[in-house]
Amino acid sequence: MTIGVLALQGAFLEHEAMLRRLGAQTMQVRKPAHLAGLDGLIMPGGESTTMGLLAEQWGLVAPLKAWVRSGRPTWGTCAGMILLSNRAVGQKVGGQPLIGGLDVTVNRNYFGRQRDSFETLLTASVLGEPPIRAVFIRAPAIVETGPGVTVLASLPGYDKEVIVAVRQGNLLATAFHPELTDDLRWHQYFLTFLQHTDDQGHRASAMV
Ligand code: GLN
Repeated sequence: MTIGVLALQGAFLEHEAMLRRLGAQTMQVRKPAHLAGLDGLIMPGGESTTMGLLAEQWGLVAPLKAWVRSGRPTWGTCAGMILLSNRAVGQKVGGQPLIGGLDVTVNRNYFGRQRDSFETLLTASVLGEPPIRAVFIRAPAIVETGPGVTVLASLPGYDKEVIVAVRQGNLLATAFHPELTDDLRWHQYFLTFLQHTDDQGHRASAMV
């Protein structure tokens, strides 16, 4: 199985290293042709405006939209989660290109600026025990979810629920950076999506 990692900018090498440790092959995606034959795709963290503009320059926006719409397994981490979202607030003036597909609203810099970056332990029942370390770097959060979206993890200790990991069919989104830890469980979880996807990328109906 081969997982593409969008390699325009950001933490794509770290994702590739994690995937290889799990026995998957990886492919750096910079052009539309690189999407052919992939079993899944990760959009990494970095800077979503820059990534969106580079995707426009490389003619990747429409192919990425088609990829996500086809129902194939796709995971966005941090800036990648912003790109995967249907709606973003706190965007640069004039907006930014989004790929969309995930029926959520994200707040781009929910936790503030670079110096407000932090690490914490998260509980996610899909990963089991123990709680997992999560690195938040100028991180977004999900402020609204549509009906088909399942919340996988929220941050404890806030007045209202701060959603930081969700799933919608074959789409996974995390506001933090699992590729910057040593824990393979999020990547392992994402690879389980592949086992339930047929050649056309359709999810077996029995899946969550
Ligand atoms: N908040 C950043 C953005 O808007 C994302 C930061 C990250 O990916 N670490 O792109």
